[in-house]
Amino acid sequence: MRYSALRILQQGLTGNKGWKAAWRQPNIQKHYDVVIVGGGGHGLATAHYLSKVFGIRNVAVLEKGWLGSGNIGRNTTIVRSNYLLPENEPFYEFSMKLWEGLEQDLNYNAMMSQRGILNLCHNDAQRDAYVRRGNAMLMAGADAKLLDRDAVRDMCPFINFDNERFPITGGLWQPRAGTARHDAVAWGYARSADRHGVDIIQNCEVTGFQIDNGVCKGVETSRGPISAGKVAVCVAGSSSRVMATAGMRLPIESHVLQAFVSEGLKPTIPGVVTFGAGHLYISQSDKGGLVFGGDLDKYNSYAQRGNLPVIEHVAEDMMAMIPALGRARLLRMWGGVMDMSMDGSPFIDKTHIPGLYFNGGWCYGGFKATPASGYCYAHLLAKDEPHPTAKAYRLDRFMRGRAIDEKGAGAQPNLH
Ligand SMILES: Cc1cc2nc3c(=O)[nH]c(=O)nc-3n(C[C@H](O)[C@H](O)[C@H](O)COP(=O)(O)OP(=O)(O)OC[C@H]3O[C@@H](n4cnc5c(N)ncnc54)[C@H](O)[C@@H]3O)c2cc1C
Repeated sequence: MRYSALRILQQGLTGNKGWKAAWRQPNIQKHYDVVIVGGGGHGLATAHYLSKVFGIRNVAVLEKGWLGSGNIGRNTTIVRSNYLLPENEPFYEFSMKLWEGLEQDLNYNAMMSQRGILNLCHNDAQRDAYVRRGNAMLMAGADAKLLDRDAVRDMCPFINFDNERFPITGGLWQPRAGTARHDAVAWGYARSADRHGVDIIQNCEVTGFQIDNGVCKGVETSRGPISAGKVAVCVAGSSSRVMATAGMRLPIESHVLQAFVSEGLKPTIPGVVTFGAGHLYISQSDKGGLVFGGDLDKYNSYAQRGNLPVIEHVAEDMMAMIPALGRARLLRMWGGVMDMSMDGSPFIDKTHIPGLYFNGGWCYGGFKATPASGYCYAHLLAKDEPHPTAKAYRLDRFMRGRAIDEKGAGAQPNLH
C-alpha cells in the first residue's frame, strides 16, 4: 500500500478500516540467499538496499527482539556529516545525501528535519581545528560555515555568553545536518524491505553459526537452523558476543551510552547544539522536549541502563552552556549498548570465514550512518567488493597500521 495525502483522506472518510500492516509476519524458510542477523537500523537498511537496489530478494532479517528495540530506537536522532578524515567524510556525506532522499525512497515519513548542527568552540585552538574540519567537509562536497561569536548569539541567544571559564568564541555550523525520528527510520526501512520480498522475522535470536569445513553455511537460531548463501551480521552492541560464537575476537568493546528528554518547552534550541568544552549535544523534538546526551558510562557493560555520575556530568555541562535549563524537569532517560571500536571508526567487511560478513563498531555515531551503512553493506554482499566510500572500514586495519582515528584519542574506546 502506497502512503499519500490522498490515501489519508480516503481512509479518513471510510473509518480508517483499510490500513494494512506495515510488514508481514512470514514463516521462516529453510534457506535464504542472504540472512541478515540483527533487525536494527543497519540490518533493515541493508535489507532495503539489497532488495531494492541490488535485486537480491531471497533475504531474511533475524531480530532477537522487536524492531526498534536496539539502538535504532534509543539514540538522540542526530544526523550530520561533519567529519575530518578522508576515510570518513565521503562516507558520511554519502549517508547525508541518502538521508535527503530517504522519505521519498521509502515512501515513509521519517520526520527528517534539516535544522542544522552547531559545534561551539571556546578557544583559538578549537576554532582552528574547526576551520580545518570545515575545509575537509567542503572538499568532500558537504556544507560547512564558520560562525563568529555574534553569529552564534543571533542563532542561540539562550546560550551563556558570560561564562568566563568557557567563553564562546564561535562555532562550526552545518546547515544540512539535523534530526530524524529514529524508530520511524526502522519502520520505514522494514516496510520497504518487506515490500521488496524480504522476510522480517522478529523474536528469533541467532545463537551460533553453521561453519562447515571453514565456510559459513547458515545460522542456528532460537527457532531452529536456517541455511544461507551468505550471513551478514550487524548486531551493534552485541557484536563481540555474537561473533565470539564464530570463534572471532573483535577490536570492539561494549559500553553504555545514555540519553535524556526533558518536559516539553516552547522553541528554545533551533537545531542541534554541541558544547565544545565538555561532552553535551542537545536538540529539541517536535513535541518540545529537549533531547540530549553526553559521554559513555566508561565501563564495559551489556546492560541497557545508565548510572548517576553521567547524569550529573551531563547536567553540569547543560548548566554551563544554558543555565536557564536548570529549571527544566527531566522527563525520561534510557541507555543503549554501544559497539565501541578501538579507533572510533566502523567496520563493513568480509571476515576470514567465507560466507560470513560483519558490520559494526559504530560507536555512538551509527544512526547518521544508517543509510550509507546499509547501502555499502548491501554492495559488499551483492558484489563481494567494498563500496568506494567504505573501503577503509576493514577488520584488519589495525594489523596494517591503518587505524582511522577521527577523534585523535588513540586506542581507547572509552574516549571515542
Ligand atoms: C543513547 C544513544 C544515543 C545515540 N545518539 C546518536 C546520534 O545522535 N547520532 C548517531 O548517529 N548515532 C547515535 N547513537 C548510535 C546509534 O544509535 C547506533 O550506532 C546505531 O543505531 C547502531 O546500529 P543499529 O541501528 O543497527 O543498532 P541496533 O538497533 O542496536 O540493532 C542491532 C540489533 O541486533 C539485534 N541482535 C543482537 N543480537 C542478536 C542475535 N543474537 N540475534 C538476532 N538479533 C540480535 C538487537 O536486538 C538489535 O535490534 C546513539 C546511541 C545511543 C544508545
